[in-house]
Amino acid sequence: MEMYTPETLISEEEIAFRIDALGKAITADFENEELIVICVLKGAFMFCSDLIKKINLPLKLEFISLSSYGDNTQSSGSVRLEMDITANVEGKNVLIVEDIVDSGLTIKTLLDTLSVRKPKKVKLASLLFKPIKLKHRVTIDYLGFEIEDKFVIGYGLDYAGRYRELPYIGVLNAGN
Ligand code: 5GP
Repeated sequence: MEMYTPETLISEEEIAFRIDALGKAITADFENEELIVICVLKGAFMFCSDLIKKINLPLKLEFISLSSYGDNTQSSGSVRLEMDITANVEGKNVLIVEDIVDSGLTIKTLLDTLSVRKPKKVKLASLLFKPIKLKHRVTIDYLGFEIEDKFVIGYGLDYAGRYRELPYIGVLNAGN
């Protein structure tokens, strides 16, 4: 089995500081309105749980699961809906919470899937964005951090199912 040592790219403190600002911005933008927050599993679970604590609005939480990577570090090029939300989003404000936008295919597929359900407004919060890999037009309304083209793990993001529990964003280096 290959062994990797995670190296910190974005610390726990930096993440917390940024999420605080994102929560304030979302609260201000949706003032006095209700929100349906859709957490994109599995990668966004930690980001979403910290983010909603900083949103001061009446909200409902939903989960959706889409898969494009399998156990690889490269996108397979097709996105599968593995688990759908249970709420009806017609006429509702929706905030999608995603871990990372890479090629943009996952989020484009999700936005297309939701748009036919006629929500009032859909906004996207993503913890990370790799601009160099973007292939689809995607607007990230609330972005945590722009990063280089590196495969990152931690704070919800995995490599072959591992490292999601790390409290920081790291990169994997082959080593001891
Ligand atoms: P996209 O469809 O934008 O190419 O890829 C988005 C999805 O791929 C993310 O939700 C995430 O699950 C996965 N992904 C993309 N880049 C990375 C990365 O650097 N690390 C990890 N762990 N997952 C990634």
